[in-house]
Parts: sequence; structure tokens; C-alpha cells
Amino acid sequence: MKSFNLDKMNTELIKGLAHYRIGDEDNSVLLNSYLGLPLRLSFQKEINCTHCGTLVKKAYNGGYCYPCSIKLAECDMCILKPELCHYAKGTCRNSTWGEANCLIPHFVYLANSSGLKVGITRSTQTPTRWIDQGAVAALPILKVSTRYQSGVFEKLFASVVNDKTDWRKMLKGNIEEIDLEEKRDELFELLGESIDSMESEFGNNQIEILENYEVTNIDYPVIEYPEKVSSLSLDKHDSVGGILKGIKGQYLIFDTGVINIRSHTGYKIELEF
Ligand SMILES: [Zn+2]
Repeated sequence: MKSFNLDKMNTELIKGLAHYRIGDEDNSVLLNSYLGLPLRLSFQKEINCTHCGTLVKKAYNGGYCYPCSIKLAECDMCILKPELCHYAKGTCRNSTWGEANCLIPHFVYLANSSGLKVGITRSTQTPTRWIDQGAVAALPILKVSTRYQSGVFEKLFASVVNDKTDWRKMLKGNIEEIDLEEKRDELFELLGESIDSMESEFGNNQIEILENYEVTNIDYPVIEYPEKVSSLSLDKHDSVGGILKGIKGQYLIFDTGVINIRSHTGYKIELEF
């Protein structure tokens, strides 16, 4: 039995298979080893802000206390909508954080999560970002110099490609294969003019068009996908668990339903196995 505050599961891609760890940094559990075994998360009726640790009744912005959620740069609207980045106006909530997290190279990528989608990520966050979304394949198509630029391009691609994952579909498995290289070539063909004009607008060496990147394929530790996806929450149940049937995205799949671990960030639990 272990007790800790939930946070996004740590992931690693080893020989094409996603590996998941849950728990504190120096006290974590490799969840892949519990496939097919009973596992239970019991809510300790305590939620702590993931930034400052304050005890809160309700978490804001995916795991923060209210003051942190309106103060921290990582909780600003521009994180969800990077095309609204306001660093250049001098109004970034924390310019040091912005410089370390947003003014750095980003990828625009295509992925197959519940079908074709476009997304963005810091260039250091692959393949983690893709595993978090439950993508079975992903392919970077542009390397850009800032988060803002990635957001502008994402909007362009999102005019013709989905930018969201249907998590229920993603959790049902049986995702149809997509030739991401072919899709990339089609999109470059279709949007070539707009890409070129945006590239020259951003200036020299800001945008790199990736025509020859390799697709990353990702398998998930799942022994059985659910036929019907029913969602479990620690807001409604004191404890959640059953036989662990699989892990995909940031979800644990039990024989009793699925739980999104990330959306319980800050919740103090006891893990029983
Ligand atoms: Zn806080």
C-alpha cells in the first residue's frame, strides 16, 4: 500500500511499448507489472495544489489552487491556445517560465489517436506527449522556434484536420491504421502556399519543414479493451479499481470502468494491490 498525491503518470517508450509509472518520484510503481491483477485507488479526501501544496476543496486548471491558477504562467489561456501567446507584448505572467517553456523549439505533428489529428509539443516532449494522448503513431511535420509559431501552424492544419482526440474511441482500441507520411504529403500539397507565406513571415531559419521524419509507432499495455467505456471519478466514488485490464493515454482501464489519472492531479490516494 502506498499513499501519494496523484499526478500525470510518467511514461517511457521502451522497444515500442509504452511503460507507465505512478506515484512519487522516488517511490513510484511500474503499472505495467500489474496488468491482469487487482489494483485500487482509495481517495483520502484531500486535494493539494500541485504547485504550492495548499489543501484545497476543489482543484482548478487541472490540479491548482485558485490563486495559483490565476497567477502561474502555465495556467494562462495561451497554454491551451498558443496562438494567443502575449510574450511579445511584455505581458507574459512569468517571462522566465515563458522563455524556458514557450520560446523554445516545438514540433507540429500528425498523430493517430482516435483517427488523424494534428498537435503541437515541445521538441523535448516526444514521445511522452503522444503517449499521453494515446496515439498509436505520430510523425513530426514541422519544427518551429516558438510555441506561438506552432500554435499558428496548428490552427492552419486544424482547418482541414481534427485537432482533438475522441477519448472514448481511443480507449476502445481497434484504431484503423493511417499512413501518416502520405497524409503529411497531402497536407503539404494542399496547404503549401499558406505554409510558404507563413514561413517567410516568421523570417529566416524559424521554420523547418520536415519531409523525411520517421513515424513513431506506440503499443500500449492492454490485455482487453472495454466494449463500453464508462468513466470513473474520485469525485463520485471513494475508491476506484478492479482488475487492471490496460493503460492507454493517461487512463487506467479496469474491468469496472476507466479513470483519467491526469484529471485527478493533486488528489491524495492510497494505492492498494
Ligand atoms: Zn497553489
